[in-house]
Amino acid sequence: MAQLTVRLPQSCDSDGLALTGPQSLVLRLGSPRIFRDGDSVAQLGSLVYRTDAIIRMTAKTFTTFELVSFVPVDLEDVEIIMSFQGGPQNVSVALIEDLPAHTIVELEYAFVTYPEGLFVAQDGTALDLGSMYGTGVATGQVTFAYRGTSTIMQRLEHLKSVPWALRLYDFDAGNNHENWIDDPEPQHARLWTAHILNVAYLVTRPNFADRMAAEPITDNQGTLMSAEAKRGVHARLLSPRSFNLGVVTTVSGLGGGSTLGVASYVLRHDFFYGQQDGTTYHELGHVLGYSHASTMTYGSEGGKAGKGFTPLGMAFAREMEVANDILIDQSNYAFPDDHQIRCTGAGFEQACSWFMQCTGLAYDDGDEYGYCE
Ligand SMILES: [Zn+2]
Repeated sequence: MAQLTVRLPQSCDSDGLALTGPQSLVLRLGSPRIFRDGDSVAQLGSLVYRTDAIIRMTAKTFTTFELVSFVPVDLEDVEIIMSFQGGPQNVSVALIEDLPAHTIVELEYAFVTYPEGLFVAQDGTALDLGSMYGTGVATGQVTFAYRGTSTIMQRLEHLKSVPWALRLYDFDAGNNHENWIDDPEPQHARLWTAHILNVAYLVTRPNFADRMAAEPITDNQGTLMSAEAKRGVHARLLSPRSFNLGVVTTVSGLGGGSTLGVASYVLRHDFFYGQQDGTTYHELGHVLGYSHASTMTYGSEGGKAGKGFTPLGMAFAREMEVANDILIDQSNYAFPDDHQIRCTGAGFEQACSWFMQCTGLAYDDGDEYGYCE
């Protein structure tokens, strides 16, 4: 179990009753992480995560629960909410002041650690959870939720409407397929958590469905779809579905059914460096059942040009970037070495590709380096 410090903020109500809660948990830096360098392909693929429960909490024993953050951003002030079968609902049980990206930790319930504490229910009443559950609670009788007031926590709130089950998938277990990478790496697992959450955030922006309804998009027969039909396609995208997230080579992407694969350069560039690639939208078109005869995949003028779902996705993402409304980008992604290509100074890797410039500047242990952007 990870080391943690608990601080009990105290206040008094009008009767002088001491109120505590939410209890404050400080996760120490160095808490274990998922998707660490060195993790095996089997370990990487074993973790299933959900867009609508991206901070995954599971009761482990009578007195402990496991918390896994699949968010590749260090979060602050994450409030943990619990509901008890046949008991109190939506009780604030903990405030995690610092939740490092990709943390996995098993925690003891604060009402077990501090049974004398009072906890605050949704309606503001104080609850003596210690006397009810101070010795523990059956694993099947509790559910968890999270919330927060920071910008990113507010943005993650939108993703609770997206019922996608996600996992990194090794499509080339025999290492004999030319289009899939032999073994997905931990950095791919980390980058995919950013990429798929960014895509989900984009398609749930308030006016995206309107923009899609207004965009000229053809179906597999080459016929322009009605606004109503396009809203239906958007709703299907946001319906319950599973994605096996893969990494392709020699091509930019592969998609269809539950398969969603993109090249590592797509994971490294889109959302970090200005939406230069629309591969993911093209593959989502395939996932939704559209062929290259439809502009749900290629644009009306070929590739990413003209009208269609891919040009719209790219344009919309650029607008979000200008509005500083990207969920995860260079400014908050916790593992910069996953996407930065160092082009000068410490840790030099290689010169920049033709479409990038060596104008990024950063420091690593005080040593200056440049990176492509
Ligand atoms: Zn295609």
